[in-house]
Amino acid sequence: MARNIIALESLGCKLNQAESESLARQFAKMGYHIVPPSDGADIYILNTCTVTHIADRKSRHLLRLARRRSPDALIIAIGCYAERAPEVLAHIEGVDLILGNDEKARLLDVLGERGMISTNSAICPPMLRTRSLVKVQEGCNQFCAYCIVPLVRGRERSLPLDEAVDEVKARVEMGYLEVVLTGTQIGAYRPSLELLIQRILAETGVRRLRLSSLQSRDITTELLALWQDEKLCRHLHLPLQSGSDPVLRRMRRGYSVDDYEKAVVMIREAIPDVAITTDIMVGFPGESDEEFEESHCFCQRMSFANIHVFPFSERPGTLATLMPEKVGERVKKERSERMLKLAKESARRFEVQFLGRTMRVLWEREVDDGVWVGLTDNYIRVFVQSDEPLKNRLSEVKVNEERRLP
Ligand code: SF4
Repeated sequence: MARNIIALESLGCKLNQAESESLARQFAKMGYHIVPPSDGADIYILNTCTVTHIADRKSRHLLRLARRRSPDALIIAIGCYAERAPEVLAHIEGVDLILGNDEKARLLDVLGERGMISTNSAICPPMLRTRSLVKVQEGCNQFCAYCIVPLVRGRERSLPLDEAVDEVKARVEMGYLEVVLTGTQIGAYRPSLELLIQRILAETGVRRLRLSSLQSRDITTELLALWQDEKLCRHLHLPLQSGSDPVLRRMRRGYSVDDYEKAVVMIREAIPDVAITTDIMVGFPGESDEEFEESHCFCQRMSFANIHVFPFSERPGTLATLMPEKVGERVKKERSERMLKLAKESARRFEVQFLGRTMRVLWEREVDDGVWVGLTDNYIRVFVQSDEPLKNRLSEVKVNEERRLP
């Protein structure tokens, strides 16, 4: 049976998205047609995530759904859940192939070797998105008490500098205006993140360069000095996880609330109008009402441009599984709702500062008849009415009213 329609779905982090984007380009180069998962396909690939039990459940659900949608398709599970528990995924009826993180980059070779696909044609792959994600680093040596990532992604390792610069050059040649550097811990990029950014800005024609996320300890004056180049997006995602020192210590995050605040102050002094976004976990084992209030107050004081909220999810093999005083689901839900409410208020407070200002926007897609949506470099979503197509174009608009996605 000729198989030439591929559906690729990705759960979890930007690193997963970058890897799926890279696989999609490889398949497209081979002449395969990439379709949305909802269309059904000859080959369905799910890049799984296992960062929470909800991600596990979603992975299993999507694999079953794909089988129901395409009874004759090849169903493939790759990624972190496949790495952590291949035996569990093997029990799902209809899953044909399971590849962990080390093997997934070789997916096309594995399929070719098993005669599941033909690998003989080469064409120029189409642009799949407006922002291209480039994976420059993988793995983590930190072992935070709640996190399964070091167990499924391994130790820190970096893409060699020349290869990373060439990857960005290749995306620019494909027509991408914005590239996002991603990894598990891009601050741990070696020889150094600064050198990588300097070379990319100097040697590639990239118009906008964005970083996926950094740790507060990665923030140095040398790194921040790079933002004098306006091609670097004024958006830093700096996971905090908790605004309470005792909780940070139990999480083994390796910094204090005070350290984190100092990093935020340095960033705001160096980069005007910068968007600082963060991750907050609620309900970590032992998190008392007082500790949660401390965390909530600190987040209020930091005026984040947005907050991603994660209820604690116990992961097999992590230190947190051994910790007493688990927080109940009802309390976790209440704390999540309060943090999400704060996140919404903070995001709006950040955005309205830019009303009346002229902002440069990278337009992504048409959301309504002649209404286009795009993002500023400091991650504000902007809409404009335009008769001409704007996809993948950078232009300046005056932001003059609030509007939400239809
Ligand atoms: S720094 Fe901590 S939370 Fe982040 S990937 Fe490493 S272990 Fe996980």
